[in-house]
Amino acid sequence: MRILVTGGAGFLGSHLCDRLLAEGHDVIAMDNLITGSTDNIAHLSGNRRFQYIHHDVTNYIYLKGPLDAILHFASPASPIDYLELPIQTLKVGSLGTHNALGLALAKEARLLLASTSEVYGDPMVHPQQESYWGNVNPIGPRGVYDEAKRFAEAMTMAYHRSHGIDTRIVRIFNTYGPRMRLRDGRVVPNFVGQALRSEPLTVYGEGKQTRSFCYVSDLIDGIYRLLMSDETEPVNIGNPAELTIFDFAQVINELTSNPAGIRFEPLPVDDPKQRQPDISKARRVLGWEPKIDLRTGMAQTVAWFRRQLDV
Ligand code: UDP
Repeated sequence: MRILVTGGAGFLGSHLCDRLLAEGHDVIAMDNLITGSTDNIAHLSGNRRFQYIHHDVTNYIYLKGPLDAILHFASPASPIDYLELPIQTLKVGSLGTHNALGLALAKEARLLLASTSEVYGDPMVHPQQESYWGNVNPIGPRGVYDEAKRFAEAMTMAYHRSHGIDTRIVRIFNTYGPRMRLRDGRVVPNFVGQALRSEPLTVYGEGKQTRSFCYVSDLIDGIYRLLMSDETEPVNIGNPAELTIFDFAQVINELTSNPAGIRFEPLPVDDPKQRQPDISKARRVLGWEPKIDLRTGMAQTVAWFRRQLDV
């Protein structure tokens, strides 16, 4: 297949490019590099089945030749990024998704949309099943991301129903691994960066909020299976192993032998109190479940950040 990955120079996009190339596909990565980096795809530059195009997908996407699939992964994805880039975040989720769908229609290509557990907002249902409609504050600081992704899902389903486009929607839960940006503000790079500098870890609030962290290779495998499946309704992909942020901080301090402990800082506005994917659907329709546990995945991630920081 010839496949376009929007956001192909980002954390998840670049791992997807690797997997698609390994599966024998031709890959075009498109990125405007606001949060992505060509460092993530530098190792692919000599590959004749790989091409990189610098483009902002909120503008019309022109692409020569046939195309079999589009994986729409372009978007800022960390709360700090979308606080700094609120309008770009809204635009890429709305206009960018519209352009990607238009391209899918023109090329008769399948489109897989990267959606998010943020469509569930601060969830009142636990764990979160795909049938839950969510609890989102449209005008809060996270609303720019949550609503853009909710709009993107609605637009994708509308193109599927009105134009018969072959679509897939993955709802991605917290994912970590090599190529996360050290300064993207998310809990994994923050904690690992702090630990490697022997600084206290900044736990927001009392650290009682929960998250469930999935290692990137597991996530990519779920996404690839979804792309190749017939499932057109949203599917959660994430690791259901849930823990509090306080406990997560202890794990990182232990893994890095960080003597500096923990420092409490204020909880950001609208920070979801609990999050855990219900993955029964992914198990049933994709035969997928995560394989890498938190300590194994974090050991890999810490080793990668260590190399970046040269410590
Ligand atoms: N968090 C924290 N310290 C940090 C960064 C984040 O305690 O330095 C918390 C944050 O308040 C949230 C959780 O960790 O409850 C996950 O935050 P992240 O930004 O990684 O992603 P989110 O799941 O909120 O989108």
